[in-house]
Amino acid sequence: MKRRIALIAHDGKKAEIVAFVKEHFEIFSTMALTATGTTGGLIEQTGLQVNKKLSGPNGGDAQIAAMAAEGLLDAILFFRDPLGKHPHEPDIQMLMRICDAHDVPLATNPATAALLLYGLAQQ
Ligand code: PGA
Repeated sequence: MKRRIALIAHDGKKAEIVAFVKEHFEIFSTMALTATGTTGGLIEQTGLQVNKKLSGPNGGDAQIAAMAAEGLLDAILFFRDPLGKHPHEPDIQMLMRICDAHDVPLATNPATAALLLYGLAQQ
């Protein structure tokens, strides 16, 4: 079965996630991708197919957390902007808590995301 990965990036990290996806395009092209709305739209422009959820502030993070709780995701790559203020901070905290509650691998920065991706690709 294809690996199921969710991608989320705060506005200050969107350029970084697009660069990350391009850099690891071959690995991502073997996986089933889900993303929050705006992040997903940007990733689609690289040529990959993405299951787009709502935009983060409108509930996209919560939708992805629900998928994680239901066992529908193998990992989440969440490029957080530690310098930004986010109206949906409660949803962000909830998403991270759900990952811990269900032992879902969660990378919150590109360095960890790369290690996680290589690990998944090897399994
Ligand atoms: P977005 O949501 O991809 O729709 O911008 C990301 C977020 O801020 O959680």
